[in-house]
Amino acid sequence: MTVRVRFAPSPTGMFHVGGARSALQNWIYAKQQGGVFVLRIEDTDAARNKPEWTEGILSALDWIGISRGSYEGPYFQSENAGEHRAAAARLYESGRAYYCDCTREDVQARTGSQYQGYDGYHRDRGLGPGEGRALRFRTPDEGATVVVDLIRGEPTFENRLIEDFVIARGDGSPVFLLANVVDDMIMGITHVIRAEEHLPNTPKQQLLWDALGVKPPVWAHVPVVVNEKRQKLSKRRDKVALEAYREEGYLAGAMRNYLMLLGWAPSGDREIVPWSVIEDEFRLEEVNPSPAFFDEKKLRAFNGEYIRALSVPDFIDACQPWLTGTGTIAPPPWQPEEFDADAFAAVAPLAQTRLAVLSEIVPNVDFLFLSAPLIDEAAWAKTMKDGSADLLDAAIVAFEALESWNAEALKSTLEAVGAERGLKLGKTQAPVRVAVTGRTVGLPLFESLEVLGRERSLTRMRAARLRLV
Ligand code: GLU
Repeated sequence: MTVRVRFAPSPTGMFHVGGARSALQNWIYAKQQGGVFVLRIEDTDAARNKPEWTEGILSALDWIGISRGSYEGPYFQSENAGEHRAAAARLYESGRAYYCDCTREDVQARTGSQYQGYDGYHRDRGLGPGEGRALRFRTPDEGATVVVDLIRGEPTFENRLIEDFVIARGDGSPVFLLANVVDDMIMGITHVIRAEEHLPNTPKQQLLWDALGVKPPVWAHVPVVVNEKRQKLSKRRDKVALEAYREEGYLAGAMRNYLMLLGWAPSGDREIVPWSVIEDEFRLEEVNPSPAFFDEKKLRAFNGEYIRALSVPDFIDACQPWLTGTGTIAPPPWQPEEFDADAFAAVAPLAQTRLAVLSEIVPNVDFLFLSAPLIDEAAWAKTMKDGSADLLDAAIVAFEALESWNAEALKSTLEAVGAERGLKLGKTQAPVRVAVTGRTVGLPLFESLEVLGRERSLTRMRAARLRLV
């Protein structure tokens, strides 16, 4: 039997990091089993679907390493609407489903309590099809539905506690539960690896598989992803869009490594490992069923490690979208003609060791490409205190006298200026850094001054000095 798995996102919003995690788990499982990965876009909720969300899913998958053309599909659920209806009709004709025209209020009036589920009123009343009549599945009164789940063992659901659930609405359209099952049948899916949120649907879906006479798949419900407050990640509250991470400058390699650690870890004391190790070692059966904490701080640290592992030329390439502003990435504050690739290359290795995400490259290097630095006023106020004017004066004079404008000479010169005033280098550097870069933190100062050049550095120092008059 060839293993066939599927990833079945609904294109109703930005592609979620939890979805990316499930996609990767499916992808690796298929690969390990010599199986097939199928992509199915569940686009039947016409009111909420948009074609751009589908495009977003395809490009996000591509980015994370599940590239177009390397899987089966994408199929679209809407293309199977006829099969969904046919399955509903078969269930009705075989007596496994019946029509019902009760409203929720009707049921509540009968049961006299809060709505606790459908009471089976129309089970044996022989109501035929008609406008406004929903089709309900007749769940068995006895026995239990045992779900075979690679991660959760065998969760067991008593059938008498499962209400006769709706499989097609009053307008005849089949609901998600049924469409999803029928699609999995048509596509020959053997293993359904999906988020834990769907576990409550699973006994109902398994009953549908049985009623339609097909052996159900093996299930694997991967843990829900939560924030630091242990709340399920939500798009209203948390940063969940894979695209947002990409725009911030997370590397695909770091992202997918981190996503695979949600509920699982490679052998030994390692977390940052080559993808090939994850592909070898990952075991779906070993995934921890408890909620998995999506720790953005840890992801940032991961990303920093991945950035540092790049070769310098690769790092320079990886920075390009932020240096030019492409796609949805905002343009940098300088004009394209102000950018100087050689100056950037000169400071790139210094920047590479400092960044956690690639977008941070811009505030680190903008001083090199702007005619005047962007002064951070809070940093200015904090740094430019009594003594700064005198310090700048002395530094300007000393720098003007330098024969050779290089980092080493600049450092020893400024050190001497500080020493004459009883100041350590850190204190002496601060006003010069703010004058030249506009900020209190950034690349090493003396290398920055060297690359910026004598004239531009001195002009900025003089301008800052004038502001202190
Ligand atoms: N379309 C469903 C979702 O995005 C997936 C259902 C499934 O994987 O079975 O949540």
